[in-house]
Amino acid sequence: MQTANVIIDGHEDIAFNSLILHRDFLLPAYESRLKSSDVRKNGSPTVGLPDLVKGNVRIVFGTIWVPPCLPGVEEPCYRTPNEAYAMAVQQLDYYKDLASRGHVKLVLTRGDLESVLDKAGQIGIVLLMEGGDPVLSPEDVHEWYAQGLRILAPSWHGTRYAGGTHNPGPLTDAGRELMRELGKSHLILDISHMSDESFFQALKLFPGTVIASHSNCRAFVPTDRQLSDEMIRALISRDGVIGAVLNNPFLLNGWREAGSVKSQVTLGHVVQHIRHICDLAGDTRHVAIGSDLDGGFGVESTPSEVDTVADLGKLAFALSSNGFPDEDVIGVMRGNWMRILEKSLPA
Ligand SMILES: [Zn+2]
Repeated sequence: MQTANVIIDGHEDIAFNSLILHRDFLLPAYESRLKSSDVRKNGSPTVGLPDLVKGNVRIVFGTIWVPPCLPGVEEPCYRTPNEAYAMAVQQLDYYKDLASRGHVKLVLTRGDLESVLDKAGQIGIVLLMEGGDPVLSPEDVHEWYAQGLRILAPSWHGTRYAGGTHNPGPLTDAGRELMRELGKSHLILDISHMSDESFFQALKLFPGTVIASHSNCRAFVPTDRQLSDEMIRALISRDGVIGAVLNNPFLLNGWREAGSVKSQVTLGHVVQHIRHICDLAGDTRHVAIGSDLDGGFGVESTPSEVDTVADLGKLAFALSSNGFPDEDVIGVMRGNWMRILEKSLPA
């Protein structure tokens, strides 16, 4: 495999930004900035296919994410499970279309993973559903898997299955059934956005591979969107991996209240969150990148060194200059996600 400097990013909302925000994924972020009409709400774009290629971000967990119609959420959003399903299928089809036109390769198997890594310039997408409402009934997870889904995050805000961010609560009856069906599948469970109560129930019911695709440490940013030390320890005990998010309010507590100054946050803050997880683990095997770039925020809210997704490689320098040995840097940049994919994807 040709893996020198390859980066794996565990979370990007590519389909939503294309279908709902009408951004062209095939353009470099700089060109999208000139065209985007949604910058005031969602920030200036940082992700385009050419930027991923430039940064050697070769594997991305691309989300199927559809917003519920909560107060303040703009249309299109969903009010019923069937509406959520229809929007999610559009996003699935979007990724399939990108792949059929040769722009990306869907990573469905370990063979796909190897072939992406063997071909410089090729970008692989692992499909991740964020928020479980499009799964109409728990046994439908098997059909979603057949359609290419490899990772399922049951929560965003609360869903029909589980409590979520700013919406605490236990797994519902359907949520417990979902965990049992997931356990019969080869899907990876993504617990980012899951409420604490649902999280601990889910870990008991689901025996398979668990990740947090995009979550930081509550030790530094004390909100329910980030992971408590207890949650991090539980993930480590399951050999899970946590993707560090490059969103300034998730990196520096009070960043917005202090005036949202980009230069106040650096990759050093990302290293701080990464080091905390490594300290709890006693090794560097449980943390990776889950940038969430363009996930409802733009370049205005990323660490000062990060202008586009092509800058993710700078995190390797930040880790090295903070004393991480080369082998551990490689683990964070790709190796830890590789371990999860290699053990979960079918041959
Ligand atoms: Zn998210």
